[in-house]
Amino acid sequence: MPKQTKPQVRSGVSPPGSLNPRLQAPHRQLRPASAYVQGILRGDRVLLSQAITLIESTRPAHQQLAREIIDLCLPHSGRSIRIGITGSPGVGKSTFIEALGQHLLEQGRRLAVLAIDPTSKVSKGSILGDKTRMEKLASSEAAFIRPSPAGESLGGVARKTRESIILCEAAGYDTILIETVGVGQSETAVHSMADFFLLLLLPGAGDELQGIKRGIVEMADLIAVNKADGSRLPLARQARQEYRNALHLFPPKESGWTPVADICSATTGLGIAEIWQQAQAYWEKTEKNGYFEHNRRTQAHYWLNEAVNHQLRTAFFQNPEVRDKLKAVEKAVLEGRQSPFQGAEELVALFLKR
Ligand code: GDP
Repeated sequence: MPKQTKPQVRSGVSPPGSLNPRLQAPHRQLRPASAYVQGILRGDRVLLSQAITLIESTRPAHQQLAREIIDLCLPHSGRSIRIGITGSPGVGKSTFIEALGQHLLEQGRRLAVLAIDPTSKVSKGSILGDKTRMEKLASSEAAFIRPSPAGESLGGVARKTRESIILCEAAGYDTILIETVGVGQSETAVHSMADFFLLLLLPGAGDELQGIKRGIVEMADLIAVNKADGSRLPLARQARQEYRNALHLFPPKESGWTPVADICSATTGLGIAEIWQQAQAYWEKTEKNGYFEHNRRTQAHYWLNEAVNHQLRTAFFQNPEVRDKLKAVEKAVLEGRQSPFQGAEELVALFLKR
């Protein structure tokens, strides 16, 4: 048997720096905001991705840098059409986005696909979650696909997606698709950042609105009955008629647009071009009647309020005096010694140093 030798560490040679686990932390060295912005403006997808990762980060230094990047990108944003796409899981959203995306690329458009999914467990900055979805789109230079930020609350996830839209637009993406699962309140969040709202539904689910709340149908600018292929085609046509009838019952929209019900198949491509035509018709109409700009302003107002709420909450819960006192007040409230309102007043007074 050969003599077993152990690797020797020669004295006087310090271990290589890469063995230090702290140097392998996931965060690369930060650059100045202007470096990210210059990269974004020339369409550098790596820097765009890194900047979005900063938006998604919870570290104060990253958030500060992200804010600077967003501010610098803001004058270059806004020149796009933002399309919200919602529908229950399995309705065919990813397949549809792949098909619509191909069509848009053929029209010479540049496309960013973002998502709002508060249940997303995809690790920050990873695109693995979407690697298997939208494969063709993902391989195109003119498309940028980013999964939902993994997030605490819907509000947090939505805010990060909204901020990412600004960076994507500054990077020259002229069509933004924002996808969400049609559960919970996420479609309301998408509605607060999209210009045009598309609802995907399935054929053959009876005249019931498939558990999709009436409010969502009311928000839709276009209802597309997907999977209109094979034996489902007649059912899809019938569903389209039912939705057309249902849409008549809703009050007219402030946008002046009359919502449309259509059929499509994400797998055969039926109806995809027509849906894009409708989106363009919407765009033209609302540009002309001023609603497009008006809606963006209303959305900006909404996001200003959201941002104020968020920043106040964060400052409140990070305040050292509040943190010191919070547990005691919580205990007093839970034990009935103090009312929740008194407790809140006491904490807020501490925060405001009154
Ligand atoms: P998502 O959960 O809404 O993103 O749905 P997916 O895009 O993952 O689609 C769910 C399933 O429906 C997949 O097996 C797709 O292949 C299938 N699918 C999607 N669109 C169509 C369509 O237009 N026709 C048919 N026949 N199947 C479809």
